[in-house]
Amino acid sequence: MQVVLQILFALVLLGALWLFSKRIKFIRRNILLGKDDKSRNDNSAKRWQQVALFAFGQKKMFKRMWPALLHFVVYAGFILINIEVLEIVIDGIFGTHRIFAPLLGAFYPVFISFFEILAVGVFIACIIFLWRRNVTKVQRFHKREMKGWPTLDANLILIFEIILVGALLKMNALDQVLQAKGAEHYVQTGNFLVSQSLTPLFEGWSISTLVVFERTLWWIHILGILFFLNYVTYSKHLHIMLAFPNSYYADLDTPKGTMQNMPEIQNEVAMMMNPDAAFDDNAPPPPERFGAKDVSDLSWKNLLDAYSCTECGRCTAVCPANNTGKQLSPRKIMMDTRDRVEELGAGIDKNGKDYNDGKSLIGDYISHEELRACTTCNACVEECPVNINPLDIILKLRRHMIMDEAQSPNEWNVMFGNVENNMAPWAFPADDRFNWANNLETKKDNA
Ligand code: SF4
Ligand code: SF4
Repeated sequence: MQVVLQILFALVLLGALWLFSKRIKFIRRNILLGKDDKSRNDNSAKRWQQVALFAFGQKKMFKRMWPALLHFVVYAGFILINIEVLEIVIDGIFGTHRIFAPLLGAFYPVFISFFEILAVGVFIACIIFLWRRNVTKVQRFHKREMKGWPTLDANLILIFEIILVGALLKMNALDQVLQAKGAEHYVQTGNFLVSQSLTPLFEGWSISTLVVFERTLWWIHILGILFFLNYVTYSKHLHIMLAFPNSYYADLDTPKGTMQNMPEIQNEVAMMMNPDAAFDDNAPPPPERFGAKDVSDLSWKNLLDAYSCTECGRCTAVCPANNTGKQLSPRKIMMDTRDRVEELGAGIDKNGKDYNDGKSLIGDYISHEELRACTTCNACVEECPVNINPLDIILKLRRHMIMDEAQSPNEWNVMFGNVENNMAPWAFPADDRFNWANNLETKKDNA
């Protein structure tokens, strides 16, 4: 029977890892559908510093202390409790039980007690998060893009974590009862700080019943974790993994709000601003398309951003356009980009790399109205805890909307014409800009 369980465990483990690797390959290929970006492999020391500060240290989260602390507990719990999973996996494969206990001796119950304290922290934090989302209804969790699956996803993951840590604590409590009864295979480990208080729940149970329950919880725990491993790749919780590369490849020391020029039109702009300027023959040829119409026109970093979005809505909460009732939500821009690249990726898998479903990010996912509403204030970029840049995507889409689709309101066209003709956004030549101040000195002297 033990061998059958070991084989079953190995099959389940291999199946889960195979599904996970398949999904990761799919996501990686989707991200690489994006265009090449400027080099992001320079200055690795600074980039690792960003990873330490923003991904490990969650620096931006600490702008709000309490949610940040709770989030940190869940995150630390997730990482550290998984060390215990290593033991579960080894036990499952080799048919052992708590294989690390004899190796670590007196330290073993100390480690497990530490994990249990974290597990209680995760349990409490998840309950508070559920309360904030569903009872106190923090506004940013209830915007229009959060209807349906995004809200369900956020709730499911919290419930899931509560079930997992609950199973872990009860499993440890049952283990201690079995140890006290001298059950075969249950090595003596010493007491665990939290779960020992649960042992009275199982008083009077026979050894066979205790073993059945302990093994059931053991399987629930590991199956839950393997399910979770695959589930996160379909969920906003993918940020648990992608926050690290996303922080590594984030812009370095770029002044806030810097917009990237379009080298392909710089020649024309230079000549427009100065008709006497010489034409640069080495300028890149005009591109097939200006800006971005679909996800494949965006850069791979934009698509990595989309997959890293936690849907926290901090960007939307500070967006002046959203706050004044406009359709634009930077969080929705990221969610739409991810949904679209998933759709396109699935289509390519089915129909080959030249697949074209006739859809695009602009129009089918993001409206012109949303794109027009952005003030380019950069607040969303500043606020994002995982260094995502929604503004970069908005600008690329808007450049396409204006330069290829000529979808700009009349007021903007007037301004574009003024820039072209007067080198100033208003209807007067730039040189006339300070005419109003010409007589100021005279007036002051006469006063
Ligand atoms: S840059 Fe645009 S999307 Fe971002 S906060 Fe400002 S107005 Fe909103
Ligand atoms: S872009 Fe950043 S701030 Fe906005 S929802 Fe995603 S993770 Fe949160």
